[in-house]
Amino acid sequence: MLSIQTFTFNAFSENTYVVSDETHEGVIIDPGCYSREEQKELTTYIDDHKLNIKYILNTHCHIDHVLGNDFTKDKFNAPLLIHKIEEAVLKAVKNYAPVYGFEGYREAEPDRFIDEKDTIAFGNTEWKILFLPGHAPGHIAFYDLKEKMIFAGDVLFAGSIGRTDLPGGNHDTLISSIQKKLFLLPDEVVVYPGHGPTTTLRREKISNPFCALSLIK
Ligand SMILES: [Zn+2]
Repeated sequence: MLSIQTFTFNAFSENTYVVSDETHEGVIIDPGCYSREEQKELTTYIDDHKLNIKYILNTHCHIDHVLGNDFTKDKFNAPLLIHKIEEAVLKAVKNYAPVYGFEGYREAEPDRFIDEKDTIAFGNTEWKILFLPGHAPGHIAFYDLKEKMIFAGDVLFAGSIGRTDLPGGNHDTLISSIQKKLFLLPDEVVVYPGHGPTTTLRREKISNPFCALSLIK
């Protein structure tokens, strides 16, 4: 049984997830904590629940998802895992962080590159990795087959999809990732997105105005 704690961090209202199971092992997905208060909020949860953080995972490396990479790597002594294609996206963040007012941003080195051949394992949990480019060129999602849930970053939101106007973004690629890959998962899968509330694949397959299956020509 997974415990999922959602934090909404930084000026972009980004969802950071701490996911753990009954063994108290867990992962941090997209640490967006930036301020002292946000760092404290995250640390307090992890300390209070006596969690052993095995990995720090980035679905993709836009600024709002990586602001806390350095802090969490250091604090919890856990390796940072990203897709190889996102390395350039990550390296670019330090160049534009000050423009957005994040003068204190510090880049963290990824420790390992992961793709669909790999699985993420902690405690009694094992996740598949889905490669879902379009919003970002090396975007991945973490899928728990047993619990029927997916941490999907900025691919699909409740009633919306990720923007595709940032460097490396491509609208057709994103729609294809959603319709030809993400939507092949069971309808009841719960989607934990990078922004906003959770949804289900069923709901988005039927009613999402950007990618519902009825829109396939
Ligand atoms: Zn993004």
